Amino acid sequence: MSSATSRRQKPNILIAGTPGTGKTTISKQLEEMTQFNHIEVGEFAKKNNLLESWDAKYNCHIIDEDKVVDKLEQVVPAGGYIIDYHGCDFFPERWFDAVFVLKTDNTILYDRLLARGYDEAKIRENVECEIFQEIVCEAQDSYREDVVMELQNDSLKDIESNVNHIRQWIDSWTGVKK
Ligand code: ADP
Ligand code: MN
Repeated sequence: MSSATSRRQKPNILIAGTPGTGKTTISKQLEEMTQFNHIEVGEFAKKNNLLESWDAKYNCHIIDEDKVVDKLEQVVPAGGYIIDYHGCDFFPERWFDAVFVLKTDNTILYDRLLARGYDEAKIRENVECEIFQEIVCEAQDSYREDVVMELQNDSLKDIESNVNHIRQWIDSWTGVKK
C-alpha cells in the first residue's frame, strides 16, 4: 500500500454501471448519510467546461478524461469522495478503495431508459452494454479483484439494501483504518 493511501482518513468509492442502473440515486443517498462528497462526473465536467464532444453511444457528452482527472486529482486523493460515472478505466487506480458496479435486469433497465426519454437505438445500445456486462469487465480490467464488487439494483428494496451495504463497507473501512 502506498503512503498516500495509508494517510487517507476516509475511503474513496467509485459507483460505476451502465446508464440507468441507479448510480446517481444511490450516490445521493450515500452522500446524505455519510457527508462524503458526491461527484457526478458528467455534471462535474459540464460545469467545469471539461467536455470534448457528444457521445452518440451513451447519449451524453464525451468528457475530456485527462482534464477531468487533473482537476479531480487536486481533491480526491484526500479521501471521502463518491465518484459516479458509467466508465471507470481512465481514473487512477490508486484513487479508489472500492469500486461498486451496479447491475440491472435487462427488461427493467429498458423501461428506465424509455422513461428517461432515450430513443430506441440508444436504449438498445445501453441494454446491450448491460447484457455483455461491459462495465463489469472494464472494472475487472482496471482494478484489483478484491476492490470490485457487483451489486444488483432492480427494485426499490435493492436501493435500500445497496445503500446500506456500501455504508457498512465504508464504516468497516474507516474502523479498520483509524
Ligand atoms: P444512473 O445514474 O446510473 O444513470 P439513476 O440513478 O439516474 O441512474 O436512475 C435511473 C432511473 O431509475 C431513475 O428514474 C431512478 O429513480 C430509477 N431507479 C434507480 N434505481 C432504481 C431501483 N433500484 N428501483 C427502481 N427504480 C430505480
Ligand atoms: Mn447518473
